[in-house]
Amino acid sequence: MRKKLVAGNWKMHGSLAENAALLSALKPALAGIEAVVCVPFPYLAQAQAELTGSSIAWGAQNVCEEAKGAFTGEVSASMLLDFGCTYVIVGHSERRSLYGESDTLVARKYVAAQAAGLTPILCVGESLAERESGVTEAVVSRQLDAVIDAAGVASLAKAVIAYEPVWAIGTGKTASPEQAQAVHAFIRGRVAALDASVAGQLVIQYGGSVKAANAAELMAQPDIDGGLIGGASLVADEFVAICRAAAK
Ligand code: PEP
Repeated sequence: MRKKLVAGNWKMHGSLAENAALLSALKPALAGIEAVVCVPFPYLAQAQAELTGSSIAWGAQNVCEEAKGAFTGEVSASMLLDFGCTYVIVGHSERRSLYGESDTLVARKYVAAQAAGLTPILCVGESLAERESGVTEAVVSRQLDAVIDAAGVASLAKAVIAYEPVWAIGTGKTASPEQAQAVHAFIRGRVAALDASVAGQLVIQYGGSVKAANAAELMAQPDIDGGLIGGASLVADEFVAICRAAAK
């Protein structure tokens, strides 16, 4: 169902003590507001213990494309379910660029997540060079089509898309509300060409240097349905303000 949804991506940050302080600040401040935190694997049990019964869901930042077996160092979707996860990020640009994840691999992770009953947060977005050479729509289409080809357009009814221009992630450089809206509308339009009802319900988050100061303007755009938040999700007041701006 289309709704505003803000998810935090903690990346490789945190400690038991830091997480406890952050989560105990978030819980009362976000009471009644649906939000998600995607935490490092070792802290899933802590998230489950702290957040069960709250309005904050939790998830992981990556998942193995295989269900089980000899895949040293990997974590399966069913393991994430064991820790009460409902969401998992797939295809984050850091995974694509630093760990060589291809569109095909990301699509397999998306399928594995859904097969286990998790909601994938599928990240798509162009690099600065790609934007400057005018291929933003082609890049986003290619990333989206890999998933649609693997899982079908109907699968998007049980997924979230995060449009994250790579040049805006962790750089302090946010896409303008107009730039973000244009790509969000393009994504929704592309899905609508295949299935209007799925497109109408699709949650499309914006990610890339979102903070309390720019959240309201971004969230007011007609095709922006929330955000995927990196750095600012580690600061309770910032994350709360972003979630509240989206919920308005
Ligand atoms: C992210 O990691 O998905 C992200 C959007 O990071 P930041 O908000 O720090 O740009």
